[in-house]
Amino acid sequence: MSVLILDKINKKYKNIKIINNFSMELNCGEIVSIIGPSGAGKTTLLRCINGLEKVDSGNIIIYGNNITKKQTEQDILDVGLVFQDFQLFPQYSVINNVMLPLTKVFKLKKEEAKIKAMDLLSKMQLLEKCNSYPYELSGGEKQRLAIARTLATNPQILCFDEPTSALDPKLIENLFKIIKNLSCENKAILIVTHDINFASKVSNRIIEFQKNI
Ligand code: ADP
Repeated sequence: MSVLILDKINKKYKNIKIINNFSMELNCGEIVSIIGPSGAGKTTLLRCINGLEKVDSGNIIIYGNNITKKQTEQDILDVGLVFQDFQLFPQYSVINNVMLPLTKVFKLKKEEAKIKAMDLLSKMQLLEKCNSYPYELSGGEKQRLAIARTLATNPQILCFDEPTSALDPKLIENLFKIIKNLSCENKAILIVTHDINFASKVSNRIIEFQKNI
């Protein structure tokens, strides 16, 4: 079943066409990578899917709901984005970074949120760092924390923006396993990357994004 359908998406910035009539579908449990040169509009595409940018025309359909016409709170929760620069909350400890969406979005009680956050941190092999702060983490640990925080809202579609850019080969192998495990849990995964090696290994399908300018 297609959880995400992009139908003839167009996006311009200051009259420069960034995304040109782009269409694709993403199914549950599928891993799709979009590759292409820097500046081709890959991050912009993820931002549009996550509702952080508006498309000029075309349709973005999540679980049958056209979010370009009306985006509900559930549509926002259905998609998670792991940012290239992680965008962690520097003032909060590791556990509080994961608890925050649980208490703010799902209104869970602190104790309940803590149990769920510990579970996600354990899954990301970060339990022993739960009282550390983001500045005390390595690049790989920051990324795993960003993934744990994204998973807290239980999105069915997970987007990764250039996930291998700050990782050495061992950490890339670890990320490979994490992404494969998430797809086994039936998450639909969309990766944008210029790392063709990683894309070919991890994905079921690769789509090439062309630079329009
Ligand atoms: P990629 O992820 O493929 O490297 P981006 O989506 O980040 O590409 O950027 C595509 C193009 O859009 C670039 O030329 C970039 O400068 C431009 N761009 C991105 N965001 C904005 C913005 N908010 N305003 C104006 N131009 C932007």
